[in-house]
Parts: sequence; structure tokens; C-alpha cells
Amino acid sequence: MNEFDLIREYFTWPIKDPSVALGVGDDAALFSLEQGYQLVTTTDTLVEGVHFSASTPAKDIAHKSLAVNLSDIAAMGAKAKYFTLAISLPKLDQSWLKEFSDSLRQLSGYYKVSLIGGDTTRGSLTITINMFGIVEFSKALTRSGARPGDGVYVSGTIGDAGFCFWKLGNGLVPSNQELKRLNCPTPKIELGLELKNLASACIDISDGLEQDLTHILKASSVGAIIEVEKIPISEALYVHIKDTNNWSIPLCGGDDYELCFTAPEDNEEALKMVSESCNVNITKIGVVSESLGLQIEGFDGPRKSYQHF
Ligand SMILES: [Mg+2]
Repeated sequence: MNEFDLIREYFTWPIKDPSVALGVGDDAALFSLEQGYQLVTTTDTLVEGVHFSASTPAKDIAHKSLAVNLSDIAAMGAKAKYFTLAISLPKLDQSWLKEFSDSLRQLSGYYKVSLIGGDTTRGSLTITINMFGIVEFSKALTRSGARPGDGVYVSGTIGDAGFCFWKLGNGLVPSNQELKRLNCPTPKIELGLELKNLASACIDISDGLEQDLTHILKASSVGAIIEVEKIPISEALYVHIKDTNNWSIPLCGGDDYELCFTAPEDNEEALKMVSESCNVNITKIGVVSESLGLQIEGFDGPRKSYQHF
């Protein structure tokens, strides 16, 4: 099997989106943009040994590669549309490729995003996805719109992936639910689209709540006060924290792929409705302040957020 057979066999399937004129198979892809929309694009790379372990199933690697990119599009309040895939493989393992391809095709079908091109090379296992989305002109959610008095909110529960990672590192067995939170995150695409009209700033939590919220505060030239007791956490993590006071897991754990956002107080009722319509919990954990920096009430223990280098 050569590279072209591999692409045809595992990375080519019919595209249903009529805006795509050319997908996989030419020198480049072609798609048209509706008038009044801006193109939103993001890239994330997953490397074996850094972002996932050698024992992670191919289907989970495919899921996470796509989900982390969808999550960035969600954080912009945009609609995900197309993606390219660059994959480097240590060897040609057809059963691995089939499992990866089936999972990628299924999840991309669910989110209605079309695979429109990519590249394959030999090398250590690395997956890079470049995702494209669209958003109405000047409607994108950025990190820079938070204002003093806005509430600070998060979606879902925080720290599950970090707790799973902590368990794995300490010889404990995570639950299936915790493994799912680490390996197969759910991007909050629908929520992001709704927040576009309600939030003042938004980010997806990939590196840890503390670090990612700080990105919003810096970009907006504001500060915030949050209370650890208000951070929504799972029952199992609650028990662990009660015993250890280890709030650094939800504060710095990362890999949550929930949205952290700020919104004016007036939008509180509308946020409740969005929470119901999207079936996603939204929790207010603090408030934006004029004085710079992030103040965390209820925990002053050691914590260390994820650093890329
Ligand atoms: Mg992000």
C-alpha cells in the first residue's frame, strides 16, 4: 500500500457539505464562504508520549485530535466546517489505521465537519489537525472583551481529566467516565454558538482553569476573584479534595475542554435558558474586577499549571 492508496482507503469519504467544491485528492481543497462571514482557523498537534500514551487506543487518539480543535472553534463562538489532517506514522499498521479512520469519520460526521485534505509521512506518531470554521462578521468571541462587574462562568465540571491523569500517575485505576473525560472530551460547539451573543470573552480550558482564565484577564486588561468552593466538580473529585485539600487538580489540571467565559450580569437569565437548551451546566465561579490579576479565594496551596516547554 503506497501513500495514495492509504489516503484513498482511510481518509477519503463523501463530502455532504455543498460549500466544498474540492476535497481530498487535488493539490489543495476549494470551498466557498457565505457573504457576511469570517473564516476562523485553528491548529492543534497531538504527539505520542506528550499528549497521549503509547497504550491509548487509536479511536481515542482520533477523537481527541478532532475534539481539541473543535473546542477552539467553540471558544470563538464559531461554526466548525472543514479540517485538514497531517499524520505521521511510525509504520503502516492497517488495523490501527482502520480504527483511527472509523472514529474520525464518525465524530466528524456527528459534528458535520468535512475532511478536505491533509498529508501523511513516516515518523513518530503525531497528528496535526487544522480546523476551519465560520462566524458572522465581527461576531467572534475573543479573549479581550471582559469588563469589571462581569461574572466569570465555566461549563460542565472541571478537573475530571486532571483527576484521571493524577490517578494514572499514582498507580490508581480511573473510572471509565474519568478515562472518557481525558481521552474523549466533548467540545462545547453548541454552547459556543449561543454564547456568541451573551458572553463578553471566552476561552476553552485546555491548559487548566487558572492559566486559561488568566489569558482572558490579561487580554482584557482586567482582574478577577474566583472562589474554589464554587468550581463545579464531580462527586469523586469532591471526595478526593475533601481528604487532601488538593484544589490544584481543578485549578491547574487542564484537558477539560469546557468553556470559561465572562458575561455581563444582565445576561444571567439568558444564560440559564442557554444552559437548558444546550443541556450543559453553567456555573458562576467569580466576578471580573478592575484590579489586575487572578485572586483565588479558599485555596492558597501549591499549584502548577501545564507548561508546553
Ligand atoms: Mg484554546
